[in-house]
Amino acid sequence: MKRLFKEDVASFVRELKGSYKVAAPQERDGEYDFDFVEDEDKVVLDYPSTILPIKKFFFPPEEIILEYDLSDKEEIKFKSEPKADEICILGAHPCDINALLRFDMVYLDDKFDPFYKKRREHALIIGVYCNHPSESCFCGSMGTDRVEDGYDLMLIDGGDEYGVEIGSEKGDRIVNSMDIFKDGKDIERPKLEGFIREVETKDLPELMLEKYESDLWNDFGEKCLGCGKCVLVCPTCFCYNVVDDIGLDGKNGERKRIWDGCVLTDFTLVAGGLNFRKDRTSRLKQRILHKFSYFDDKYGVSGCTGCGRCINVCPADIDCTRVINLLRSESK
Ligand code: SF4
Ligand code: SF4
Ligand code: SF4
Repeated sequence: MKRLFKEDVASFVRELKGSYKVAAPQERDGEYDFDFVEDEDKVVLDYPSTILPIKKFFFPPEEIILEYDLSDKEEIKFKSEPKADEICILGAHPCDINALLRFDMVYLDDKFDPFYKKRREHALIIGVYCNHPSESCFCGSMGTDRVEDGYDLMLIDGGDEYGVEIGSEKGDRIVNSMDIFKDGKDIERPKLEGFIREVETKDLPELMLEKYESDLWNDFGEKCLGCGKCVLVCPTCFCYNVVDDIGLDGKNGERKRIWDGCVLTDFTLVAGGLNFRKDRTSRLKQRILHKFSYFDDKYGVSGCTGCGRCINVCPADIDCTRVINLLRSESK
């Protein structure tokens, strides 16, 4: 197994920056977030979780998907060109790489999205195994604390050094073209322990449907503020709204897509003013059922990776593991 000494990480990032825009976790006001690296010494690879997941690099919060110019009647101009920089995501945890694989199921395999595809094709993913789950993580229950696919290189913490697993030809080329990687002994993937939150996932999609009419939904729905923080931070939430921005003369304009989420009031507002999930209970139920039942029904895996971000940010203390555990205890 190749190894990378921790004291060489900054030099490694510097080398990567010769070919890629490198995004990595960095500290911000006591928390961590992925950002493009300006100062290599500020990269942190041993961190609990980041505020936002890496989806923002592949599916930005707001992007123009179409521009048009109708001023010349002879030649109507449309521009809808996916663009992508060569980027390297360094330091993604297994749960977030698993989330990206779920995004691929939605935007590459199911509904083909050229913007997403372009960015995926131009990205190098260098992950790192997480060492200590944070208070809100439950990736151990969801089976997303390990990853077998979706990365070019994976780093395993071995004290003063990282063991390097190679996951793709691109990763292999990097390791074999940089002198910074040395030969070394094998380092085992860590076994995460000490989770505070756990859920039983056996038959979970079915259980969620069985409990569709439970009164518990109202208890949680009444607490929910419909603020949308949970869906914005979720690494697998892929919903968006489309907004047209038309110039004053009506001849030029652009079409944008903007992150949206099912817990927000207007998500289900349709023509004629009908809103078919007007109350917060039905919207919260949609979010949790989509994660733990509908997504599985369609793609064969849970839509939740157990990253715990929605639990961290919820101002109403709504914790999906608690919802699931209470629903399960009702069936016993
Ligand atoms: S539902 Fe919550 S815990 Fe699950 S992936 Fe989304 S943010 Fe993470
Ligand atoms: S939970 Fe809601 S916002 Fe997130 S992907 Fe599912 S339907 Fe979309
Ligand atoms: S973060 Fe909490 S309060 Fe806000 S919409 Fe999500 S569940 Fe409701």
